[in-house]
This record gives sequence, structure tokens and C-alpha cells, in this order.
Amino acid sequence: MIEVDGLTKRFGDTTAVDDVSFTVRPGQVTGFLGPNGAGKSTTMRMMIGLDRPTSGTALVNGRPYRRHPAPLCVVGALLEGRALHRGRSARAHLLGLARTHGIPARRVDEVLAEAGLGAAAGRRAGDFSLGMSQRLGVAAALLGDPAVVILDEPVNGLDPDGVLWIRTMLKDLAAQGRTVLVSSHLMSEMAVTADHLLILSSGRLLTDTTVDAFISGVGASRCLVRSPEAARLREVLVADGAVVTSLEPGLLEVRGRDAPEIGTAAAAHRLVLHELTPHRASLEQAYMELMAS
Ligand code: ADP
Repeated sequence: MIEVDGLTKRFGDTTAVDDVSFTVRPGQVTGFLGPNGAGKSTTMRMMIGLDRPTSGTALVNGRPYRRHPAPLCVVGALLEGRALHRGRSARAHLLGLARTHGIPARRVDEVLAEAGLGAAAGRRAGDFSLGMSQRLGVAAALLGDPAVVILDEPVNGLDPDGVLWIRTMLKDLAAQGRTVLVSSHLMSEMAVTADHLLILSSGRLLTDTTVDAFISGVGASRCLVRSPEAARLREVLVADGAVVTSLEPGLLEVRGRDAPEIGTAAAAHRLVLHELTPHRASLEQAYMELMAS
């Protein structure tokens, strides 16, 4: 797993990451969200030792990245602006990485095939399209069969096939019990890939919760409730902390409580319901609402 504790990074007067603590757990995809400049890349760079924290720690499987003897076999990372020998072929690039870590050459061919680059393996990586470079970056991240995978905006530049490939791969990696942290600004993509969310804004952690809990917790998610005892039900729900609006006689709009909670509260007070319809917000709506607050 990845454990971040009190992590802070300042660049001169800019505090890029401000006292952030969280744990990224194995067996699920954790989405890392936040506006441009929120500090996502800097946090990821500190996880793999590319930036040194001003204070705090980022541990991968209990140690700082640099203290692992063969880091590629522990953490696979795709970060923006990665270094590539542009004149080398894709295969030679991966072979170079493999050699420094005692990884057998056949693994290079495996990850090239997994990344859909089998046919392009001999071509100069410098001539690759953005999408192919992303595929090569992912192949490099997976080379050491790492238990932890960190990908910064992996779907950037990918065509629909590539987006689907990343989506399936992330889910497969998590299902294999790996720890998967992925940043993206594409909410629709995160909504179908991520199980857990970390949201950063101005260097601070705003949200550390499941995607489901995040979406149900915002006001944009609401339930329509029809009851012949609407006035009494309204009192019960308001007392329970819900925000309730009467839309018409017998019809309530409820925010802040989900359908099971409303149904349970109604049953506890022996109130009859004629309709209970959840209207779930999209991840994008929930995110926009959080950012506007
Ligand atoms: P994100 O990945 O969420 O878009 P970044 O981590 O790239 O955010 O940036 C966070 C903040 O830190 C921004 O204000 C950015 O300008 C600043 N920053 C990042 N790297 C550097 C650097 N090497 N030197 C100075 N400022 C930086």
C-alpha cells in the first residue's frame, strides 16, 4: 500500500502540497482528482522519490521508494514528462530498464504485447504518437510486475480503444490485489474505473472516501418521496438531518439521505410510502458541487 503522512512540498512561496495524509489500499482502484495545479503530480512524484518532501513522508510498502533495492519491482509509475531515449526502439527502451532490475527479456515482450505495442516494438520510441507513448509508459510501469501502480493521467492522448484498454487493465490490476492510484481529469472515466476517491484542491486533501459515498453525500443526489403522510415524514427526516423540500402536496424532495435511509426512517415511524425514487448525481456533478462550495 501507499502511506502518505503529513506530506508537504513547497516551491519557494508556493505550497504545492499542504500537510496531506492518506492511505491507498490494495485491491481497488483509487482515483486521484483535483483541478490543475492542485498538487496531484507533485504528490505522485514524491511517492516515487522524484521530488523530496519539504516535510512528511510517503511510504510504499512500508519504505520510501528509494530504499527499495529494485523499485521497479515494487512500484510501477507512469508520470507526465517521463524520460525516454527518443532514438531507441520501444523494445530497447524496456530492455534497458529490465536489465537494471534483473528482469528477464521475455517480460519485455510480454508487456509490449499487453500494451498492444507488439508490432511497433522495433520502431523508434521518439516517433511514437502521444497515445503510443502512453502505452509504452504503461508497459514500463508494469515491467517489474509491481504490487503498486501509480499512473498520472494515463488516458491522455489515447483513442477510444486505448481508453477501454486502460480501464480494463486498471480493474484487472486491482482485482489481482494490487494497489492502483490513478489521476485523471476525466470524471466520466473515473466514475466507471475508480472505487475510492482522493480529491486535492490547492494542495489540501478535501475528500478521502468511496465513489459511492461521495456521490450520495452531495446535494446533487436526491430522492423523490411520495407519501400520504408527507408532513409527518418531513418532520422525521428533517430531525434526522436531511434537507427536505415539499414539491407538491404529498411529494417531498430529500437531499442528504439516500433511499435506504429514508425507507428505514419511514418504517421506524410506521409511515406509509407510495414512491421512493433516487436521483443519483453523476461524479462530475458531485465534483463540481464540491469545488463550488
Ligand atoms: P496537478 O498535478 O494537480 O496539476 P502539480 O503538482 O503539477 O498539480 O502542481 C502543484 C503546484 O505546484 C502548482 O502551483 C505548480 O505550479 C507548482 N509546481 C509544481 N512543480 C513545480 C516546480 N518544479 N517548481 C515550482 N513550482 C512547481
